[in-house]
Amino acid sequence: MPPATPPGTDPGSALAALGAAGLLRHRRVVRTAVGDRLEQVGGREVVNFCSNDYLGLAREPRLAERFARAARELGTGSGASHLVSGHHPAHHALEEVLADYTGRERALLFSTGYMANLGLACALAGRGDTVLEDRLNHASLLDAGLLSGARFARFPHADVGALSRRLERAPGRKLVLTDGVFSMDGDVAPLPAMSAACARHAALLAVDDAHGLGVLGPTGGGTLELLGLGPAEVPLLVGTLGKAFGCFGAFVAGERDMIELLLQRARTYIYTTAMPPAVAVATRAAVELARAEPWRRERVQALVGRFRSRATDAGLPLADSQTPIQPVLLGEPAAAVAASEALLERGFLVAAIRPPTVPRGSSRLRVTLSAAHEEHEVDRLVEAIVESVTARGAPPGHAPAGSDGDDG
Ligand SMILES: *Cc1c(COP(=O)(O)O)cnc(C)c1O
Repeated sequence: MPPATPPGTDPGSALAALGAAGLLRHRRVVRTAVGDRLEQVGGREVVNFCSNDYLGLAREPRLAERFARAARELGTGSGASHLVSGHHPAHHALEEVLADYTGRERALLFSTGYMANLGLACALAGRGDTVLEDRLNHASLLDAGLLSGARFARFPHADVGALSRRLERAPGRKLVLTDGVFSMDGDVAPLPAMSAACARHAALLAVDDAHGLGVLGPTGGGTLELLGLGPAEVPLLVGTLGKAFGCFGAFVAGERDMIELLLQRARTYIYTTAMPPAVAVATRAAVELARAEPWRRERVQALVGRFRSRATDAGLPLADSQTPIQPVLLGEPAAAVAASEALLERGFLVAAIRPPTVPRGSSRLRVTLSAAHEEHEVDRLVEAIVESVTARGAPPGHAPAGSDGDDG
């Protein structure tokens, strides 16, 4: 029987259109997703330069041991949502460690960063309010702004003047959402100026520091520690636990009552199963390890410097990033995909990032560095990128990442 497809929803033509635009995505089956090396199906070893395991904790044996022991003691699942019967002492202890680590009164666990952002925006803004976001924010923040039902606008990347003008004429309660470290560009948000603008216009500022926390600042306090900002400047902080901390989950940290309000109102907190308590046990150990081992931050930062200096010497078009996220800007989607494939042949896994994840004309290789990498691997990677972008006969095309206008 032929499938009954309503007009306009034919998946075949939608997929063909994506294919024609060079935007079809493919999953790669990867056995060990993190750490310095991984094994492809087919048996070939490649070095992974596209994981967010910045501190090399996802393959840390002490954490795996802690995780296994906790699973044997506590089982594999939480059995329910936090407000029914799923809130285990292990969750509570992790929240307390996260509050302490971030210097906040309280932290609330969410199952993923995506859900933390949806929950936060929908709990704190609604019809009649205004949500303003940097246009290069992570998709989960942008979706959160839309889903909140508030008047939603994006301002040009890192443009605090444009943000201020929008705040001036914004009706209702005002919520400003931004990445701390931008996930596809690696640059840091201008938080001191943003927080001053929010204070002037009585707007609430929330920073999603998924790529900064654990990595930046002397103790890994993230973008805020790097910039010397605290709860007075940034009242709400979102962190994720599946990147630098090598585990899974996310949290929002802030002032006591604000967090209590999220607990009461955030639907992505209330209506979902709590993370397994064994995950919470392992994650707490990961946060403590990240804090106690500054050598991991120093090592990844040294590798960032090494990558940038070699890539710059080789004439590769880098972005202005000092974080472990190092884009190599290639322009068209086909160029990024071809370079990624050529790198795989040379033994390196590097993701090609295309629209709609990044603006048109700014397709790129997104290299991410980890404390688990070796110096010689970084050196070889730069050589392989040079070979991969010049193998196609043309020098690397340079397209600036970032704003292509105010489309708020
Ligand atoms: C990865 C990421 C998220 C989503 O976190 P998950 O825990 O993977 O759902 C949210 N915000 C930013 C900026 C991210 O990079």
